[in-house]
Amino acid sequence: MSGIKVLQTAQEQLKQVSEKLGIDEGLCKVIALPKRQLRVNFPIIFDNGELEVFEGYRVQHNSCRGPTKGGIRFHPDVDMEETTALAMWMTWKCAVANIPYGGAKGSVKVDTKRFSKRELEKITRRFTNEISILIGEREDIPAPDVGTNAQVMSWIMDTASMQKGYTVPGIVTGKPIALGGSEGRVEATGRGVIVAAEEAAKEKNISLHGAKVVVQGFGNVGGVAAKLAQDHGATVVGVSDARGGVYNPKGLDIYDLYYKYAGRDGGIQNYKDAEKVTNSELLELDCDILIPAALSNQIDENNADRIKAKMIVEGANGPTTPSADRILNDKGVLIVPDILANSGGVVVSYFEWVQDLAHFFWEENEVNNKLSRIMKQSLAGVVHMMHEHKCDMRTAALMIAVHRVAEATKLRGIFP
Ligand code: GLU
Repeated sequence: MSGIKVLQTAQEQLKQVSEKLGIDEGLCKVIALPKRQLRVNFPIIFDNGELEVFEGYRVQHNSCRGPTKGGIRFHPDVDMEETTALAMWMTWKCAVANIPYGGAKGSVKVDTKRFSKRELEKITRRFTNEISILIGEREDIPAPDVGTNAQVMSWIMDTASMQKGYTVPGIVTGKPIALGGSEGRVEATGRGVIVAAEEAAKEKNISLHGAKVVVQGFGNVGGVAAKLAQDHGATVVGVSDARGGVYNPKGLDIYDLYYKYAGRDGGIQNYKDAEKVTNSELLELDCDILIPAALSNQIDENNADRIKAKMIVEGANGPTTPSADRILNDKGVLIVPDILANSGGVVVSYFEWVQDLAHFFWEENEVNNKLSRIMKQSLAGVVHMMHEHKCDMRTAALMIAVHRVAEATKLRGIFP
């Protein structure tokens, strides 16, 4: 699906929810459009002396509830439209979690596999320089997303600090602990996914303990979610990475996969005690809970009908297309939407930012407990809305988010 389609989906969702909430047309327009969109083209000289020009974006969707917040994605398929949709989803994600941020997203059209570490550093630093007119610890705070990590965040922080002349840790989150990162940030998204799964499962009379779980994606989100699911007594029967997956109906040893196979030559598919499956076969495996934690648009109208899970917990952003949503809702599959299920990352980003601004750091237990409390509160609110309006969980989460943003906009009034 192209970026235009992703953006159409985001706008369509907003339109439907605004109608349900009875938000007037004018206010609807304010909320539907991004506040700022910046497109940058910047040159980089590679290790071999050749020059290439890269395209990047930073979009701030809405800042009514606070500074804008959202990751930076390095991927060859990004464009302005997709970045705008992802920024809008960040607005909703922060609003559902009720943390004081608006939404933003950034991206660079780049295939990271093609470049050396030094070249990626140059790309990051030059991109940071180009978007420095927008980002800032009080204005707009980037974080990791697909294709970026704590090292990239360190380079962003350093570049911004060099420009200021002093260290500005709060300009970016998802940093290493040594640079003002937060305990628990790396695991936060996966941890939040599992809290959401455990709470939402009660709606289907499923207990995570003893449930059969399948996880697509074995990185920062999927890998951690799979480990924690196993810790909670679930039987993780299938996992996959970009190359493909493994399946064992009796359960996989996730710790073995995580520490001995993931990220090594041959990857998780080298794991012996399992059958190899493709990424699309993995989604259709027999299980109670399916956690798509890789890229978007993995479940669409072509495979939705064959999904056997009773519940889908969206670790990735936008893994289910709207047509798949309809098919799955009709089948009675409970979908815990991305803006709720994967909000653990931005919630602990918020904690990191608060700690940076206060120059006072918390212990991991404190971070995890506060994360768990916020996830449970947001889930309870969404479940309540879902029952009250007899709608699906995505609609309920969006209703809460859009209502909060609309209310903030009205209370602030329109300048001048
Ligand atoms: N990229 C992550 C997301 O999509 C985290 C964003 C953040 O921490 O600001 O939620």
